[in-house]
Amino acid sequence: MTVRAQARVNVAAISRNVATLSAAAPGSAACAVVKADGYGHGAVAAARAALSGGATWIAVVTAREAEQLRAAGLTEPPILVMGALSTEELDIALAARADIVVWTEGMLDAVSARGGGRVHVKLDTGMGRLGTRDPVRATGLVRRAEADPVLELVGAMTHFATADERGDAFFGEQLGRFTAWVGELRAAGVNVIAHAANSAAVLRDPASHFDLVRVGVGIYGLDPFGVDPAAQGLEPALELVSWAAAVKPIAAGESAGYGRRFVASTDGWVATVPVGYGDGWRRGLTNNAQVLIGGRRFPQVGTVSMDNVTVDLGPGTGVSTGDEVVLLGARGGERILAEDVARALGTINYEITCGLLPRVPRILH
Ligand code: PLP
Repeated sequence: MTVRAQARVNVAAISRNVATLSAAAPGSAACAVVKADGYGHGAVAAARAALSGGATWIAVVTAREAEQLRAAGLTEPPILVMGALSTEELDIALAARADIVVWTEGMLDAVSARGGGRVHVKLDTGMGRLGTRDPVRATGLVRRAEADPVLELVGAMTHFATADERGDAFFGEQLGRFTAWVGELRAAGVNVIAHAANSAAVLRDPASHFDLVRVGVGIYGLDPFGVDPAAQGLEPALELVSWAAAVKPIAAGESAGYGRRFVASTDGWVATVPVGYGDGWRRGLTNNAQVLIGGRRFPQVGTVSMDNVTVDLGPGTGVSTGDEVVLLGARGGERILAEDVARALGTINYEITCGLLPRVPRILH
């Protein structure tokens, strides 16, 4: 039986999702984004699964994440570190033979001074985070990287702010700016891997694909548009499963949990399930989520505490101590998606899987 709560990660589903996204961007290499411990799924397992699904690149955000993947034996694929790096972090990233993202002359100097490395120049076409907003300066950085014998110019990149908002015109503006810059580089004979698309852009617009696509959320079977992964041909790769650790009667007027936020209106049964906000099952789900037991849907009731939640089984339900309780996943034709939980919390699916804390073991299958 299950031990407390566990996240079951279906690595084959990650491989299949990579293949699905790659099929949507047939001329482009797939770079699997496994930052934040593979969006909560486990970075090493996600990277391995993505590579066997056809990805040829890996992307992370921190230098330590790159180091962790190399130490786990992922020695071959290029690893792009997408985040801003302090000088200490730059040393770690270069020691891990990671590709570095640059957008200032000083950053090129820093890589060069450390003996060189592989760099990608980032144009900020409108995200307003990392990158230079000035395409002339970006081209200057490209030229400088090309001219420096210890630097290897590898990529020219940008990142979209609104790819997941279908019909939003800003996406087209960003794409137009990037396309124009890449066109200029190509016309000037610069040999560079152009990349811009995240998962939503891959599904939304082939013009955004360029040479490589950086796919994160979709490879985990989370819908980049936040509604239903099945509509995109994607398969959720993570189930959150616990068990009915105590099943007991509750009389009308009795309560369960801190603050008595659930008071039974009729005589019935409740189950205590050992998962709580100490596992990343957020307190905002108080009286605001459902679970599947034996393929049937039951409401989670009362306050989510650090270590437990309560489920209202209703009158005489046939649920026994030890039964499996599914908080995220599908059973018997019913399913609870990260998208459903995200909607209940007013957040996005990314935050649900990323938010599962280390106390929840990741079990690969
Ligand atoms: N590229 C960059 C720069 C990112 O920060 C991210 C993640 O947010 C991605 C690509 C992957 O995006 P997604 O998970 O939406 O596919």
